Amino acid sequence: MLEVERLVKHFSVKRGVVFGRTLGHVRAVDDVSFSIARGETLALVGESGCGKSTTGRLIMRLMAPTSGSVRFKGKDITRLEKAAMRRMRRHMQIIFQDPYASLNPRLTVGETLAEPLSVHGIAEGSSALARVRELLDVVGLLPEHARRYPHQFSGGQRQRIGIARALAVNPDLIVCDEPVSALDVSIQAQIVNLLKSLQYRFGLSYLFIAHDLAIVKHVSDRVAVMYLGKLVEIADKRTLYSCPRHPYSQALLSAIPKPDPQSRGERIILAGDVPSALSPPSGCRFHTRCLYAQQRCRTEVPELRDAGHGHRVACHFYESVPVIKTADSANPANMGKFAVRLAAYEAAKDRSLANKQSAGASVAT
Ligand code: SF4
Repeated sequence: MLEVERLVKHFSVKRGVVFGRTLGHVRAVDDVSFSIARGETLALVGESGCGKSTTGRLIMRLMAPTSGSVRFKGKDITRLEKAAMRRMRRHMQIIFQDPYASLNPRLTVGETLAEPLSVHGIAEGSSALARVRELLDVVGLLPEHARRYPHQFSGGQRQRIGIARALAVNPDLIVCDEPVSALDVSIQAQIVNLLKSLQYRFGLSYLFIAHDLAIVKHVSDRVAVMYLGKLVEIADKRTLYSCPRHPYSQALLSAIPKPDPQSRGERIILAGDVPSALSPPSGCRFHTRCLYAQQRCRTEVPELRDAGHGHRVACHFYESVPVIKTADSANPANMGKFAVRLAAYEAAKDRSLANKQSAGASVAT
């Protein structure tokens, strides 16, 4: 469905408004390659500022890449003209982190959902109204919500509207840019559940950008880890959570809080802060914080190397980096914090449904 190859985005930093002198370049995304299959969810994780959201925007062509290519269904979209790109956007959509900022406050929900239908020539008039009602139903909202404005909804409901807007044009790929980070913990479970059921129903592919590894574990098929604009490890979810090989992935995974004291793994504390993307360290960008750094790491950039079964690691010495005990390797049946939350939500939903049914039965008798 999607092939990203050697994608690069550098932002120039200038001084002066009129005759701006270029002081340097922020290397937000540097030589990033991955692919996503039909119906698959690839999660892109990393600390804030590592370039994951920029990668999502480059894929959507919301900004132009410095170099590299993005192929969608076999077609290179990095060099498409504006009109051709607009047509292509019908097949690829994005859900933003802040549902309120991403909705036009002057448009009703009905108008918001009808807009893409009209722009792409999918439906007008009564057929657009019918489609809006259908979309609201698909994301768990009511037909009367079409007449309301975004400020009349809760954060979770606004994100449902954002999802409905993305679905309006029947896309194949959705870039989910931190779709639940701005929501309450209880609402996160509902939105993630909704995204999963929509994927199953419509055969969607997701690029799921997030920093919460507990949520990522629940939604993803494969996980790609980014550090300072570069991919450092990519593997299927089970492999990455039970046997991370890159020292940075190991540190990230060791930092997930575990609800079960029996299944706690090792905790790795990284020294220092993330270096500036304006002047990233030479060689391996992680060498200033890595426990296993050697002389070669300071001069030579590590390539992503195959560690077997689609697991790739960008580390010169990953074979000799000790394997750590994670919560998953300690307990393969470990559900994870988010799955525990989700199970509690599902149980509460079932209880409320059962209560409603028993109340209905007693009224009938
Ligand atoms: Fe650490 Fe060197 Fe591997 Fe980079 S290449 S992660 S610095 S051991």
